[in-house]
Amino acid sequence: MSCPPQIPLFPPLSQNPQITPLVNLNSIIQTLAEDLTTLTSFKTRYFRSQTGRRASEWLHNRIESLISGGAYDASVEYFNHTWIQPSVIARLQGISNTTVIISSHIDSLNLNLPSLLPAPGANDDASGVSALLSILQSLLSSPPLPLKNTLEFHFYSAEEAGLWGSNDIFSTYNTLHKQIHSVLQLDMIGTPSAKIGIVTDFLPESFAGYISHIATKYTSLTPVLTTCGYACSDHASAIRYGYAGGLITSGTIPELSKADYSHTKHDTMDKLSTPHIAEFVKFGIAWMVALGTAELEVERRGYICDNGYPDGWMGTILRFSTARAADPAGFGLWILAVVILLAIARPWEELPFLMRFCRKVKRRFRRGYTSLTGD
Ligand SMILES: [Zn+2]
Repeated sequence: MSCPPQIPLFPPLSQNPQITPLVNLNSIIQTLAEDLTTLTSFKTRYFRSQTGRRASEWLHNRIESLISGGAYDASVEYFNHTWIQPSVIARLQGISNTTVIISSHIDSLNLNLPSLLPAPGANDDASGVSALLSILQSLLSSPPLPLKNTLEFHFYSAEEAGLWGSNDIFSTYNTLHKQIHSVLQLDMIGTPSAKIGIVTDFLPESFAGYISHIATKYTSLTPVLTTCGYACSDHASAIRYGYAGGLITSGTIPELSKADYSHTKHDTMDKLSTPHIAEFVKFGIAWMVALGTAELEVERRGYICDNGYPDGWMGTILRFSTARAADPAGFGLWILAVVILLAIARPWEELPFLMRFCRKVKRRFRRGYTSLTGD
């Protein structure tokens, strides 16, 4: 069943949260560096790998230690899939079950031989994961806020496979009639830039406007509008099931693709700027505080729907080809491997034999045929 896309209502712009006491910039930058180091130290966070599973387990334990002893009604859980790497969801329960979600993806991918080759995935998307951890840590280490709404922090598995983890989660949320206000995905936010890119595909204007407002008010980043052209990250799974989903990234998509090392072994921490990610942490704190403490109305209440991905079959192709030739050297390796295999197997040497064999069969057949008809 299809459902009209939800247009979320945002708090009045005059209503601004006090976030300065929550921001300890030096400690945020240090925490970001530590978390990024750990996340990129897994050989790969590929969703079908043991190290991918261990990355999720590390994340779960890290959040568990953050929430233990905190003043919030907080919890963390795995969301299991049919593959080995679970997604992880942290929750700060508010008075109402209306839920505001901020998200990122835990998996990484090396496009050439994902099961074997390293994929540090620093920008894609350890940057988003570490930012979410810092937002959570800042909230939990400060005096608790009076949360009217519930806040969730999502860390999806198998984004790189084609948004599989988030699809499982929003499909389930839809079946459970969960009231979701909005979902905001942070993906590839580490490239040094003075901008915050607001991806406008399938994004309601009010949503883009509120991102822009929070960014201008609480960060040094300049908001810029940009487009992907297809459902390019997990927020699209939310949209698929009728929820409002947005994506923010570092600068515009064309700027990002100029220095895009994603899906290769070159997506490493040294190419990122932790002070830049810290601006996204400031943004995230303000976003969660503003939406967590405001009176939010969610119009869409419980009906089951599936719009499919909003971009049709061409988007499916694009989603898989984003795992595009970001690594021409790797692509060259594939060609080299095929050449070596051909050189060893030399299938063309079998050609004369095959032709001889075919001639023999043909002759036999003809002889049999003439002997049958000759009588
Ligand atoms: Zn990503």
